Amino acid sequence: MQQFISHDYKRIPLYKDVTPEQWGDWRWQMRNDIKDVAALEKVLPLSEKEKSDITEVLKRFRMAITPYYASLIDPANPACPVRLQAVPRLPEAHDDEVDWDDPLHEDVDSPVPGLTHRYPDRALMLVTNICSMNCRHCTRRRLVGQDDVHLDEANVDRAIEYISKTPIIRDVLISGGDPLVLSDDKLERVIARLRAIPHIEIIRIGTRTPVVMPMRITDELVAMLGKYHPIYVNTHFNHPKEITAEAKAALDKLANAGIPLGNQSVLLRDVNDCPTLMKKLVQKLLAVRVKPYYIYQCDLSKGISHFRTSISKGIEIIENLRGHTTGMAVPTFVIDAPGGGGKTPAMPNYIITSNERRVVLRNYEGVITTYDEPRQYEEDCGMCRLCDDEPWLRPTCGVARLLEGSQKTIEPANLARGNRVAGIATEGRKDRPRKGGF
Ligand code: SF4
Repeated sequence: MQQFISHDYKRIPLYKDVTPEQWGDWRWQMRNDIKDVAALEKVLPLSEKEKSDITEVLKRFRMAITPYYASLIDPANPACPVRLQAVPRLPEAHDDEVDWDDPLHEDVDSPVPGLTHRYPDRALMLVTNICSMNCRHCTRRRLVGQDDVHLDEANVDRAIEYISKTPIIRDVLISGGDPLVLSDDKLERVIARLRAIPHIEIIRIGTRTPVVMPMRITDELVAMLGKYHPIYVNTHFNHPKEITAEAKAALDKLANAGIPLGNQSVLLRDVNDCPTLMKKLVQKLLAVRVKPYYIYQCDLSKGISHFRTSISKGIEIIENLRGHTTGMAVPTFVIDAPGGGGKTPAMPNYIITSNERRVVLRNYEGVITTYDEPRQYEEDCGMCRLCDDEPWLRPTCGVARLLEGSQKTIEPANLARGNRVAGIATEGRKDRPRKGGF
């Protein structure tokens, strides 16, 4: 049976006079965010070196730790995985030569401010730059913790107008910052307008709030969200220690309102780069009704290179999950390809070889087995007219179009060979007779 620990915040002298009502009020939590060294050392013992390092990092990136999340830190353990995600360390002050400001090209793929349209049928709406907590591994540091602003009404209008006029978009992910720092009313105004667009089938919210400020998940909030189904919430637990009794209570409220819950972890050095720990995390997530959805390879954003692991670590984690625990618990390990390449899955190789008759597979135990292909398999669409009746379901781009046969090759736009061929077509070959020549 899973244990969910309720953390006793009163053990921290600074919070000993805080009432349960104050502690359970998310606005009190945000008002009392820990933002500087003076406040932090009232909660955690800090060495002189740590104080100096934090001061150095704060010249570049802000710190914000909710009192709730700070109460999860083990003060006796400098390597506490909660601490590493919350308290700045000196490597943040340095960039790696491969770091980018916006590695995912979210700004490049942005038709209007606050909206990213990268994938064919879905869009990302960044409704705020604010989070209750500034995670040290945040990939959107170019925005979050810079200007504390929500997306203004004029740009909300422009984003909604773009989505309304783009019928291929059927799914909008509301993110930020953290959209749950918005008041219920402000968030509802955005959600209601999206729900009113006929081609928007699903609305998703990306939020770390259940992890860092679970008291924000109020009865009023879930009642509001429940009016706009189908609505999904994806959250961001990175370590089993974060799944507390308070987090479970928040997730229960969301799940009881019929909101499917998913989790996106980031693979972080010294925090969760361990196959055993990740197994514990995904199993614990299922126990609180959260489906592990993605594990992300850490992005190439500025100031977070000390969190990066090798990609092979992620593959090893999936190797230790697939078959070893329920498939429900196995997320997809993805690299969000720099330059706007999008989420690219990476996984162990389970197909050893194949010919036309059979495929040789290996399973998680190392057993090698074969799957006999059907003797005479031919695709037969028969009477199905789905491709004609709903052509938008067919692939609009990419490798899937090669398989479909609607495209023969995919080539870079500035392929040197392509340019030469284009030149020949324009100017003609000098060494060959032209039609009617010589
Ligand atoms: S909650 Fe998300 S957006 Fe906010 S600081 Fe953490 S990782 Fe960044």
